Amino acid sequence: MQIERVRSKFKELFGEMNVTTFFSPGRINLIGEHTDYNGGHVFPASITIGTYGVASKREDSLVCVYSLNFEEKGVIEFNLEDLAYRKEDGWANYVKGYILKAKEKGYEISTGFNLVLHGNIPNGSGLSSSASLELLVGVVIKELYALDISTLELVEIGKKTENEYIGVNSGIMDQFAIAFGQKDKAIYLDTNTLEYEMAPAEFGDYVVVIMNTNKRRELAESKYNERRSECEEALRRLQTSLPIQSLGELSAEEFEKNRKLINDDILEKRAKHAVYENERTMLAVSALQKGDLVAFGELLNASHQSLKDDYEVTGVELDTLAETAQKVEGVLGSRMTGAGFGGCAIALVHKDSVEKLENTVDSTYTSLIGYPASFYTAEIGNGAGVLE
Ligand code: ADP
Ligand code: MG
Repeated sequence: MQIERVRSKFKELFGEMNVTTFFSPGRINLIGEHTDYNGGHVFPASITIGTYGVASKREDSLVCVYSLNFEEKGVIEFNLEDLAYRKEDGWANYVKGYILKAKEKGYEISTGFNLVLHGNIPNGSGLSSSASLELLVGVVIKELYALDISTLELVEIGKKTENEYIGVNSGIMDQFAIAFGQKDKAIYLDTNTLEYEMAPAEFGDYVVVIMNTNKRRELAESKYNERRSECEEALRRLQTSLPIQSLGELSAEEFEKNRKLINDDILEKRAKHAVYENERTMLAVSALQKGDLVAFGELLNASHQSLKDDYEVTGVELDTLAETAQKVEGVLGSRMTGAGFGGCAIALVHKDSVEKLENTVDSTYTSLIGYPASFYTAEIGNGAGVLE
């Protein structure tokens, strides 16, 4: 068990065992990609792979953290009085940033703490290990200092850490999914209003397989920012005639009537994806509510196609994974998940066909790309909190 390893490392490093154990999941987005910053809907779920932590309060003002994923860094120590970003502190900057943002919101963290953690989310693969770590810190400080803090507040502090302290221009989906996740449920979230609804994510004889390109998303950040500005420009052009605040407010029908206003082929394709993907997300939720997995799978395929052709954020690695998977018997649908340009794809596959899927995709991927993909079966589990 992951947590046993973390506990015994904690004991080795800090001795005392008056500890609390925590888990914070990773997340997959089932559908609704690149819709979050367009005021549309997303449909993510928290998964049973994530970050495990063991923590206890200290009496002084030091925070001492150790990650079994970065053993070479040893114990990283900092003082609550000095939470400035320091490159040499590496991953511990997420912990500092989270504490700083919590303090700025007025939460009192009176003494330091010891924290040992281990994550089984592959870093940088689009399953949001960074948001998982942020929310882990969130539930640790909430529990240790008995903070009166809502789940939404924990989410917002995580987003602020990512945006303002680490400097990544991401939306709210990752932290939201990780904090609000529930077993066998996905979160239908309106990113404009933050209203959300839990929808059933039960797949019966089918399972979600995560397929990792093992390619780091090098281009992701600049391309991500480029797509954001392209959508903003498309919106500005539509706003010359339409009273809308975001692309997420447009139905596909309204978009078709007005798309010529955009007057640029590339911008039109980007906006088309944002509008249609938002519609697909609504349809996917009702498909799952009706238990129609076939319809749900078709929407996954259509989402991938749109991310490939209109939004152009896939690349040969993700296309090879998703398109090979789509052809395997027993697969209902497959698409990239996360920002794109590498990272992971998901496939909804019959439990008897998992091995066939993995073998087929792996051999095609390896011969085309030159290195292997990795596979994980994701169960949909609970959000971040104290581990019982
Ligand atoms: P992702 O797509 O996984 O969120 P990021 O680059 O945003 O990729 O975040 C990965 C970073 O988050 C790691 O380089 C590390 O700094 C931090 N991190 C994530 N998980 C852990 C962990 N278990 N232990 C220490 N740091 C972690
Ligand atoms: Mg991240």
